[in-house]
Amino acid sequence: ALMITDECINCDVCEPECPNGAIYQGEEIYQINPGLCTECVGHFNNPQCQDVCPVACIPHDPDRVESHDQLYQKYLQIMLVK
Ligand code: SF4
Ligand code: SF4
Repeated sequence: ALMITDECINCDVCEPECPNGAIYQGEEIYQINPGLCTECVGHFNNPQCQDVCPVACIPHDPDRVESHDQLYQKYLQIMLVK
């Protein structure tokens, strides 16, 4: 999963780009629900939020490193419950 750092300026452009609805407004900055972030696997070739963030504050979460296959399995699970 990706994560949003405290460099976030709350510009709001990433939230509507997420195909999984994983991005939400937290108490101070935007946040990513790691249970819903597939790093855009299943939808796009590259993370859509990273593409639009004007301050590049959406890195990979070092505590949540996932393989492409794990991300794809997460995508399938999300599609099942939708
Ligand atoms: Fe959503 Fe994709 Fe960004 Fe993850 S990488 S938060 S799935 S837009
Ligand atoms: Fe924050 Fe970047 Fe999302 Fe804007 S695009 S709300 S700066 S994480």
